[in-house]
Amino acid sequence: MTYEASFSQAPFVYEALPTRVVFGSGTRSALPAEIERLGIARVLILHGRSHAAVHQELKQALGERYAGAFDGARMHTPVDVTETAMEKVAESGIDGIVAIGGGSTTGLAKAIALRTDLPQVILPSTYAGSEMTPILGETRDGLKTAQRSLKVLPEVVIYDVDLTMDLPTGLSGVSGMNAMAHAIEALYAREANPVISALALQSVRALARALPAIGADPGNRRARTDALYGAWLAGICLGSVGMALHHKLCHALGGSFDLPHAQTHALVLPHALAYNAPAVPQVMTQLCEALGVERDAPGALQNINRAIDAPAGLAALGMPEEGIARAVELALANPYWNPRALTRDGLVQLISDAFHGAAPRSYV
Ligand code: NAD
Repeated sequence: MTYEASFSQAPFVYEALPTRVVFGSGTRSALPAEIERLGIARVLILHGRSHAAVHQELKQALGERYAGAFDGARMHTPVDVTETAMEKVAESGIDGIVAIGGGSTTGLAKAIALRTDLPQVILPSTYAGSEMTPILGETRDGLKTAQRSLKVLPEVVIYDVDLTMDLPTGLSGVSGMNAMAHAIEALYAREANPVISALALQSVRALARALPAIGADPGNRRARTDALYGAWLAGICLGSVGMALHHKLCHALGGSFDLPHAQTHALVLPHALAYNAPAVPQVMTQLCEALGVERDAPGALQNINRAIDAPAGLAALGMPEEGIARAVELALANPYWNPRALTRDGLVQLISDAFHGAAPRSYV
């Protein structure tokens, strides 16, 4: 009898990323102990405007270790904002950074760490996943460039479900679909390996159940816990293996038309997956199982988008229709790895469908 291996990705390389993770509800109370463990004497707290109260609470908890705060982080980590924050870093004589917020606040912490090598403790409040990656995207003069460096990988991440309970319903859903995109593209990544694929499928399972439940009841704590768990695993996927067409398209669309990050991911994902589906049949079978459907994984993602009340299409985010042709040119201009070859006609269809909010088509 022939023996079938339980995975089909050998040979592979797997490299673990050394972030310590504290997960649960109320876990932000562990911050002083985590700061002590890292041997940090003075911290600067970065926080979004929606976290002023949490900032006050943590300021009290840190006592003499608190050295100040900065609440000016912006999406896509503009270098001028980082330079302003760096002045605060220099004048407050800190030896560690704490960030409370979404990917924008985390991005600023990482940008400071890149320039100073200071240790970071991140308390995420969205499902973006940046806290688990050694990747930093920075924007200078409207141009966003990304780099990888272990210098920007946070030392400690404290996931506190309580910090996500106030995340507005609409943003919760699309932010969760942003995480879903990391997990899905990890399954067909060039560097795919069985450890990351196992995490990716677990992430898809958790997010697929949790996001519609949060859409129906934003106060559902169990669903919030599952969503944050799925987002954590998706962040590991994003940090560990390279992404493909979906992420490159969202990067180009977001940068060119100033579209909101998480919403763009949610709207493009069903169509990017439909485009890649013919090249990755085994992944599609695994995805259907994880999404709890017999077939049509892209359709299942579109159904989740409906359940979370995602915007209808990229047009609703403010993208101009003539931008479709420009986005296609951008997608073709810088070749990158993707499981299926990119064709001009295919990309026009994909982006048009995402623009109009059409049902994902079959490319077979
Ligand atoms: P975000 O951090 O900009 O947050 C979106 C909005 O939600 C903001 O107005 C914020 O103040 C608000 N908010 C956040 N948490 C909240 C909460 N709990 N309650 C109420 N309001 C809340 O958006 P995001 O989607 O988390 O992050 C997007 C950014 O992260 C982009 O710049 C993207 O490029 C970056 N990112 C980077 C990586 C990486 O690995 N480098 C990965 C994912 C995302």
